[in-house]
Amino acid sequence: MDALVKPLAVSPRASDERNVWESTVERENLILGHEAVAEVVEVGSLVRDFKPGDKVIILAIAPWWEKIEAQMGFRQHSGGMLMGCRYPNFRDGAFGEHFVVIQVDGNLAKLPEGVSLEEGALVSDMVPTGFHGAENAEIS
Ligand SMILES: [Zn+2]
Repeated sequence: MDALVKPLAVSPRASDERNVWESTVERENLILGHEAVAEVVEVGSLVRDFKPGDKVIILAIAPWWEKIEAQMGFRQHSGGMLMGCRYPNFRDGAFGEHFVVIQVDGNLAKLPEGVSLEEGALVSDMVPTGFHGAENAEIS
């Protein structure tokens, strides 16, 4: 259900620094980066929606969808505290030459025609985080 991807555009963000300096998660020798547009290089045999060559938006939160936390709407905690924040807390992230995305049929989005690599990287986390904050503040 996983895929090997090659980052094409990445956006460093404060949470990458925070993951190093203030994280409550034990992490060692993991490559940073969680916001990116990438190209699919290889897919597992159970992947249905993606194929090598597809340009995709990496979603900053990558849950295991079979976990109860994800199904209850707490995707960031699927499998344990912050375990849905997979890159780079529990797996190598987007600043490497390649990295693995788990359960890609639920954790990737195809980059739409006409959207640049840089614009796609913004949608990876920054734009939805902004909308989430606006919704929580009930800004219409
Ligand atoms: Zn982020």
